Amino acid sequence: MPDHRQRVWHSGRVGVDPVERLLALQQYRHNGARVPHKPLLVLLALQKLATTGSSDLAWSEAEDRLAGLIAEFGPTTKTSRPQSAAYPFTRLRADGVWALSVDVPDDLVTPLRETDVHGRLDPAIDAALIQDPRRLEGVVRSLVDAQFPSTIAPDVLLAVGFDPELLAPGLAAVTPEERKRSVAWRDAIVRAWDGACAFCGYDGSLGGAPVGIEAAHVRWFKVGGPDELDNGLALCSLHHKLFDRGALGLSPDARVQVSEHFRASGVGKQVYDLHGRELRPRPGAQLPAPVHVEWHRTQVFRGDPLAA
Ligand SMILES: [Zn+2]
Repeated sequence: MPDHRQRVWHSGRVGVDPVERLLALQQYRHNGARVPHKPLLVLLALQKLATTGSSDLAWSEAEDRLAGLIAEFGPTTKTSRPQSAAYPFTRLRADGVWALSVDVPDDLVTPLRETDVHGRLDPAIDAALIQDPRRLEGVVRSLVDAQFPSTIAPDVLLAVGFDPELLAPGLAAVTPEERKRSVAWRDAIVRAWDGACAFCGYDGSLGGAPVGIEAAHVRWFKVGGPDELDNGLALCSLHHKLFDRGALGLSPDARVQVSEHFRASGVGKQVYDLHGRELRPRPGAQLPAPVHVEWHRTQVFRGDPLAA
């Protein structure tokens, strides 16, 4: 393990309770665009902290792991993988929670590689969280919960190296008022689509109630998507997951799109058949608003759709 006491750390500003500054990151968004880069870096550092006792993370390790997480869970971009990791690795300093072992400029990959720069969370954060594992879990939960819908949050935790079961207590954090509104919206969406998946038509019920049918936000609720009828679709559990992961999407004329990156060789190939399929809501029901469809296309959908 590297001995970080030997290094002079170059951090950003300092201020109040450092753990609180970490939680402030969960608000990080840019004009409606998803920017999960910094939270993903913090999660990686917290995983190091939980497993090694120090959040010390070498660029050589972060370049690979962080870039992989960003590629899997961030919006699709043309940015190279190392570059996408260099951005949060250098810029998290400005949030006052992160320090680098060498004072390198923002965003540049080469200086990070030349001396294999190490990064680490504020030592006060390490100290506060290592002696309070429950608080550490709470921070992890808050960061994931603020960035990703519940269909994806467990995948993120698993990819970073945390137990997805961590999320369960987070469900209780919702206020009764929020829960009531959310339940009403879900009911309205499922009814508007006749209790059937908008993509494949699956409409199973059990004891008279839809089973395996969920209300999906087009623009994620976690990043400002409203609980409105023009921001939801009824989807079966499988297609909800594929929609939130960006394997499935929508065209501007309300047709299902399958991502060019989606692959299947067995029964999963049935997903290809959805490509180009027109959404058919019950007469009078609202199709997703173009503004939300466009958000999903740029922020969630993986790459380009299959060729028609
Ligand atoms: Zn379906």
